[in-house]
Amino acid sequence: MSYGGFTKDSGSTHVFRHHQSHRKTNAIKSVLDRVGPVNCDDSVSALLPGGFIRRNLPLRSMHRSKLMPEDHRSSSKLNSTLRTCQPELKQRLPNKNIQKKGCRYWLLGNCVRGDKCHYLHSLFSGKGLSMLVQLKGHQKAVRGIALPSGSEKLYTCSKDGLLQSWDCHTGQCADANNLGCEIGSSVSAGPWVFVGMLNAIKVFNIDTNAEYYLTGLVGLIYAMTVERDVLFAGAQDGTIYAWKFNPESNSFQGPALLKGHQGAVVSLVVGANRLYSGSMDHNIKVWDIDTLQCIQTLNRHSAVVMSLLLWNQHLFSCSLDNTIKVWATSEDCNMEVIYTHNEEDGVLALCGAIDAEAKPVLLCSCNDNSIHLYDLPSFSQRGRIYATQEIRSIHIGSGGLLFTGDEAGLVTVWKWVSESGSQAS
Ligand SMILES: [Zn+2]
Repeated sequence: MSYGGFTKDSGSTHVFRHHQSHRKTNAIKSVLDRVGPVNCDDSVSALLPGGFIRRNLPLRSMHRSKLMPEDHRSSSKLNSTLRTCQPELKQRLPNKNIQKKGCRYWLLGNCVRGDKCHYLHSLFSGKGLSMLVQLKGHQKAVRGIALPSGSEKLYTCSKDGLLQSWDCHTGQCADANNLGCEIGSSVSAGPWVFVGMLNAIKVFNIDTNAEYYLTGLVGLIYAMTVERDVLFAGAQDGTIYAWKFNPESNSFQGPALLKGHQGAVVSLVVGANRLYSGSMDHNIKVWDIDTLQCIQTLNRHSAVVMSLLLWNQHLFSCSLDNTIKVWATSEDCNMEVIYTHNEEDGVLALCGAIDAEAKPVLLCSCNDNSIHLYDLPSFSQRGRIYATQEIRSIHIGSGGLLFTGDEAGLVTVWKWVSESGSQAS
């Protein structure tokens, strides 16, 4: 690995090459097919941490008991029992440092207490994560981080209107493009990168350099997700816009409109033929991907639903109401809350990752300017990432890489390491 870079080690280079050859042979035909590892072949999906959020969410088989202590599995009064379970699921503290708060003066470079400071002088407390490099370029909040499969460039975009690309080998900015308006989100699928802007989405293909804009939307695009060949975009006007990729014409057709939210759509996740949308109206809506009809509205949050995540058979949602809720599908096919995790602050973003020892980790960014890391399914605390400002963008890359972007515009590259200190492969 070159100095300052975040190039993959030899283990993941294999994945890299695999993707590249795959990309060239299938060219346009496979566009958007390789959105998640679910659509990759098994050897690749086993290596990609992204598989974490792409697993299916079966409608009927609810393995809710897996989240819960053994004693409560037999209970039929699901909701009430699980609410009373919470004290037993209370967070364990494996590392004293996790209780110690990060020093905000140190983060800003001006703590005068040095070794005598009562607060932590580190960007991370806990085990299993190592900071590789910080990418400085954006002047305002990071709104999207994308590492297209096979790409040797990382793409970041910001509220400042800049779309920047970074060389994965050197960690240097390769290109900076001012799109001339605020950017709200980005997502990549295969060789395609989508940038959600005000009233439009910029689309470009890193292989062919094809570039165009999807228009006809209203307001800023806060969230996007891709499933098979469909791009879903959540907008400020409360509408979800859907475009279908047509490989024959090599273009996106649409948009179809999914209406129902009374506030901006700020989070989207897709799995097992369902689209889940979280909104400023405090609700989550469940949509059938085939019919594009809303089949259920989940109204258990009391503030904006900032982020959604699928893990195993469960939907995780987080909100400015200081909670993370875990949802499962009941026997009557409705989603219900099976566990509520309370934080002291609003929760801004969720991300699922697999650490160097192949254990699942939940990353929860809170508006105390830190990301809380929990083991799953126990919700035991395992670490904390500190920043000078809120972190709203968290992105998983292949080869054990993790990217975070904060409201000051700083992008940080992390890598999962095994507890003995060696790097993840
Ligand atoms: Zn200090």
